[in-house]
Amino acid sequence: MRKKFPIVINVPHSSLLIPEGEMQFFERPRLIRELVAMTDHCCDDLFDTGHEMLVFPVSRLVCDFERFRDDADEIMSQKGMGAVYTRCSDMSLLRVIDVENKERILRTYYDRYHSYLERLVEMRLLRHGCCLIIDGHSFYESPLPYEKDQNKDRPDICIGTDAFHTPEILVEEVWDFFEKRGYSTAINAPFAGAIVPMKYYKSDERVKSIMIEINRRLYIGTDGTIKPEYQMIKNDINEAVHILERSVMS
Ligand SMILES: [Zn+2]
Repeated sequence: MRKKFPIVINVPHSSLLIPEGEMQFFERPRLIRELVAMTDHCCDDLFDTGHEMLVFPVSRLVCDFERFRDDADEIMSQKGMGAVYTRCSDMSLLRVIDVENKERILRTYYDRYHSYLERLVEMRLLRHGCCLIIDGHSFYESPLPYEKDQNKDRPDICIGTDAFHTPEILVEEVWDFFEKRGYSTAINAPFAGAIVPMKYYKSDERVKSIMIEINRRLYIGTDGTIKPEYQMIKNDINEAVHILERSVMS
């Protein structure tokens, strides 16, 4: 039922899958450590609210759906972490890949799923006249060496916004909700922005977007086990998404 609502949940970093054919390019000894550090563990479940959801099918170490396709547009490419990573989160070598294979990866994963997201948004614009993308992530509890924001005092929840595509009211409602539930909440820190398909980027305000990032310390222990609070976090995310749903449909 909720799949027909003007909401698309986007979860780009939860997959742990490295397809067999891609393994040959990686520095294998570093792969497990990197998967642990960089994956938004369980976000495909935490953000499963019954709405339409796009879960990127392979690990971000294969292809990062949320970077700009062209390295010239993507600031993280200077650190070897554009759409196709070559460096680990500590800047050591992750993989060696030639131009042809990079382009193949972009075509196979990046282009295919960006067109899919664009279609999901387009269908909602046609049906409802608007669409809200909720970008679902989690982040490491202490700053990783590649990250720009090295402030050690990280919030429980980070809300990412875009000046053109994120209505102020949505930010206020989500911020209020999480604060009232006792979570420390920050806006655009340690991560900023929210995804919008290029077709609509900065040109169509019917497309709204907001990012919700969860600090992994809330639901995963340092030994990698799921904490007992997991279900509570999931329920709270569910409630936050329903607040956004009510707001966007009113
Ligand atoms: Zn993420």
